[in-house]
Amino acid sequence: MAARIIDGKAIAAELRAAVGAETRRLAAERGLVPGLAVVLVGDNPASKAYVGSKSRAVVEAGMRPLDHHLPADTSEDALIALVRKLNADPAVHGILVQLPLPPQIDASRIIASVDPDKDVDGFHPLNAGRLASGLPGLAPCTPLGCIKLAKTVHASLAGLEAIVIGRSNIVGKPLAQLLLAENATVTIAHSRTRDLPALCRRADLLFAAIGRPEMVRGDWIKPGAAVIDVGINRVADGGKSRIVGDVCFAEAVTVAGAITPVPGGVGPMTIACLLVNTLRAACAQAGLAAPGV
Ligand code: NAD
Repeated sequence: MAARIIDGKAIAAELRAAVGAETRRLAAERGLVPGLAVVLVGDNPASKAYVGSKSRAVVEAGMRPLDHHLPADTSEDALIALVRKLNADPAVHGILVQLPLPPQIDASRIIASVDPDKDVDGFHPLNAGRLASGLPGLAPCTPLGCIKLAKTVHASLAGLEAIVIGRSNIVGKPLAQLLLAENATVTIAHSRTRDLPALCRRADLLFAAIGRPEMVRGDWIKPGAAVIDVGINRVADGGKSRIVGDVCFAEAVTVAGAITPVPGGVGPMTIACLLVNTLRAACAQAGLAAPGV
């Protein structure tokens, strides 16, 4: 039997609508309008497209977009000076510096310069530490989206065997921490892992965040497992190109119990979770209870 397709686009739209409703309530009752500063350095076309869709989502949710576009030759010091200004601005509740940055800028220094309470990307080492320690903080958006998608399949992830393929700071590691917080039993696999197919076959939940087109095959998947594919890979297809995930969808869909498509799975959840983080950051900075989304 074919797997249920997890419709990330529809789930993300519902989440964005819920964030919008909560945001409008906050504005009406408290006069608080969450502000998100998105900083783009240079003209990378993919980054420009991401920043454009983030700003549109921010406006749609009733939040205030505060976009900054700097030239590609911006110095590290100039970017840090802007981040410090945004850290000090009470109208700014969230700060996102779009990655990748031009080569003259050390991304880790920029990430560390963002006020952890405004770090809606959840990349600051303090937020990574809070997540690993089980303390409240801001967690990265893509892993948050993955958890929300997994929870549409299993209301509780407690006791489930999960495998996360990939150990990046942006996806794999924080995702593993979020799964631990949900009481899943977590294996983190990576480029040096031995016999990955055998490890995958044990997993009730399989998360692929590798960046290798269709690497996870159908016979790696435990029958009935939930498969969440984070990968975004552009591959040549005749004279054109198309986007595929890290999982071979055509094979996996015949074995899995539920699976995310690429595109239309994890991708749309990332922006929706950015809105959630911005709303949470605004509430925390205003001394209000965490929103119910
Ligand atoms: P990364 O390159 O930083 O990390 C890739 C990880 O895969 C590494 O930890 C590496 O150890 C592991 N890996 C590489 N080859 C492997 C192999 N043969 N076997 C097992 N593990 C292997 O990438 P990332 O930033 O974590 O992103 C991963 C993928 O997710 C990419 O395709 C990226 O485009 C996509 N992504 C999607 C979203 C989204 O919103 N949907 C967000 C971030 C990243």
